[in-house]
Amino acid sequence: MLILVGRARAIKKYAMTSLTQSIRRFHLYAPPRVISLREVADSLGAERPVSARDVLRRLDAVPGELRLAEPVTTDTALGGRVEMVLRSDGTYTSNGHMRATGFPSFAFVVYPTVDDGGGRFRALAVHQGRVFGTDTPGDRQKNWSEDGRNEDIRQNWLTFARDARLTVRKEWEVSGVLGTLGDIATAVAQFVGAAAVTGSGGTAAALVIGSRLGEAAGEPWPFPQLPVGVTIASGVLLVFGPAAIVPALAAGAVAEALVEHRPLSEEEAAFAAKVFGPTLPSREQIILTNISGLDNRAFVIPGAGGSYLVNLGEHFDDPMALKGRYTQRGQVLIHELTHVWQAKRWPATTYFCQGVFESTYEPGGDASKPWSAYGIEQQATIVDRWYGADPGFLAGEFQKPHPDFTRKAAHPFDHYINAHIRAGIT
Ligand SMILES: [Zn+2]
Repeated sequence: MLILVGRARAIKKYAMTSLTQSIRRFHLYAPPRVISLREVADSLGAERPVSARDVLRRLDAVPGELRLAEPVTTDTALGGRVEMVLRSDGTYTSNGHMRATGFPSFAFVVYPTVDDGGGRFRALAVHQGRVFGTDTPGDRQKNWSEDGRNEDIRQNWLTFARDARLTVRKEWEVSGVLGTLGDIATAVAQFVGAAAVTGSGGTAAALVIGSRLGEAAGEPWPFPQLPVGVTIASGVLLVFGPAAIVPALAAGAVAEALVEHRPLSEEEAAFAAKVFGPTLPSREQIILTNISGLDNRAFVIPGAGGSYLVNLGEHFDDPMALKGRYTQRGQVLIHELTHVWQAKRWPATTYFCQGVFESTYEPGGDASKPWSAYGIEQQATIVDRWYGADPGFLAGEFQKPHPDFTRKAAHPFDHYINAHIRAGIT
């Protein structure tokens, strides 16, 4: 159900119905989120005082799809075209081409960027490649078309669709390779950093879509201080994940020199195996860091090269420590490792989208529900609660190298652990 709060008295019933339908048209504000009419009005740029009729009129004028195209021109025998198609349900298509039109060959990188009018939100794509002129055998033209979906587009649609414009930054070189991993990481970091600084509330309202790093993927990570796939710009943490999706997260006052990271230790891996069996990635692929997410939440992100970044924040120094809402030692690590278990099995973009926006942790008491009916935080809470449910067992039997779990007090979540977690079945 969609609930509008605000100047409800001023809204006649018929207006309310069509307003609700109009907002729904953009897949915004998924139920049961409570939104205010003022919030919608502000997104639309409506003036105060807010009238429902005015908001409705403006909503109806908002397109469900943005299709923006620009030619790419250079001062040499190289040109092309980029198009960005963004839709209110969060899906997008980034397509275009570059072509060598004369004698020389080129390496190029283009960064089509869609900005909203107010500088509050932008989406960036990265496309790179080589095109060959008559001097060298090879393809004269490089085409690309990438589809995807990003939750940020859906969430920001009203702001975004109002005044969106496309700009294209481009670089080219007659020889050599452009767009090394370091170049692209730096360019993207600048882009996101700038958005974070100019954005309202200091939150990064930027996303990078369709950025296939291509040939650059095999290069060593150019920021030695940071875990592979992580860079930082203007206090914003960027993670270059699989499929080269680059999520941006505000991570507090992060500074490169303060980031610490290490793989899961042998001891921790042995501990985890007692709960997860053989279903986690190898311990070398599980990288613990002291980075913390919004609201100091620990979070997991699929990283580069098949790694999983477990960002523990304050828990990093002692991941087994008893802290916060957890009642047993090791419970926080079990919770976060459940996210690794999920991330290993879910497509990266799905996982990332759900993880960042999901805030329901409470799984409820109905243990007859199928495992797949729970959100990622609910699943992680099921596993950490199951782990912490029998303190006597934890203090005794569980400490043995191969604990006998039949000695653990029966728990309503037992079947989720056996049939899903330990079996590796989602
Ligand atoms: Zn969690």
